[in-house]
Amino acid sequence: MVDAMAIQSAPAIAFKKVTCCFPKAAGKYGSAGEIYTAVKDVSLEIKDGEFVSVVGPTGCGKSTLLNVAAGLIRPTSGTIDIFGASLVGGTNREAGYMFQAESLMAWRTALQNVMVGLEYQGMDAAKARDRAIGWLAKVGLAGFEDRYPHQLSGGMRKRVSLAQMLVLDPRIVLLDEPFSALDAQTRVLMENELLALWAANRKSVLFITHDLEEAISMSDRVVVLSAGPATHPIAEFEIDLPRPRDVSEIRLTEQFLKLHHEIWDVMKEEVLKGYAQSKR
Ligand code: ADP
Ligand code: MG
Repeated sequence: MVDAMAIQSAPAIAFKKVTCCFPKAAGKYGSAGEIYTAVKDVSLEIKDGEFVSVVGPTGCGKSTLLNVAAGLIRPTSGTIDIFGASLVGGTNREAGYMFQAESLMAWRTALQNVMVGLEYQGMDAAKARDRAIGWLAKVGLAGFEDRYPHQLSGGMRKRVSLAQMLVLDPRIVLLDEPFSALDAQTRVLMENELLALWAANRKSVLFITHDLEEAISMSDRVVVLSAGPATHPIAEFEIDLPRPRDVSEIRLTEQFLKLHHEIWDVMKEEVLKGYAQSKR
C-alpha cells in the first residue's frame, strides 16, 4: 500500500545525474578515438501530468536526452527513473515518441499506420480498426483513413503520427521537435491541437524544441540547456500563463512577452556559443 502510494506520486521521468559520452568523429572538434561529452550530470524531473519543454541551441544534446528517456540510449553514467522504477534494459514502455523526421510507413494507409502499434500488441484486428478510426477522427482526419502518406499534406501526416502515438494510450509522451518542418500556420494549428489533446487526458509530456516561443506557449515549465559540450540545465521557468491557451493569441500578451524576455536573456548566450561551435 505504502509502495503503491510512493509510485503514484513519483515523477513520470527523473533524470539522475545523466551523462552521455560519444566517440568523436575524426576531424570534428578533435581527432578520432577521443570522447565527446554531450550531456553531463543532468538531473531533471517531469511530474506526472506535467508539460515540460526543454530548449537549447542546436547540437547541445536535446535529442540525446530524449533518447535516454525513451530507453534508446543508455547513459554513460547516471540513471533514469520512470514513475519511480529504474529504466534498465529495453525501451521505455510507458512512453510514446514522435520525432522530427517523418516516420509513417509509405506503403500503409493512414488507418493502417495508426493500427500498426495495436496489431503489434496483439489486439484483435476489428477492435484495432475501431480504435484507429476513432483516433483519426480526434486528430481531424475522419474521411482520410484510406489515404497513403504521399496523398496527405505535411500537417496531415503529423496528425497521423500523433494518432499513431496516442492510440496506444502512453502515460508519457516524448516529442522531439515534432512540428519544426511545418510551415508557420500549420505549426500553430498543430500546437493548438496537441494542447487540446493533452488537456483532455493529461499525459506527462517532455517536449524538445529549439524554439522558445513554442516552448513558452505550450508548457507548464521551460528548462534551458547550456551549449555543449557537457550540456546541462542552467535555468528553469514556471510558465503560469492561463489555460486553455491559444498558442498564437497567447504570444501577444504582456505576460508572455515578459517571460520570453526573461528566458531569452539566459538562452541568448548559449545560442551564440552553440553557433560559434558549429562554425569550428
Ligand atoms: P540536439 O538535439 O540538441 O541538436 P543532439 O542530442 O542530437 O543535439 O547531439 C548532441 C551532441 O552529441 C552533438 O554534438 C552530436 O554531434 C553528438 N552526438 C549525438 N549522438 C551521437 C552519436 N550517436 N555519436 C556521436 N556523437 C553524437
Ligand atoms: Mg535534436
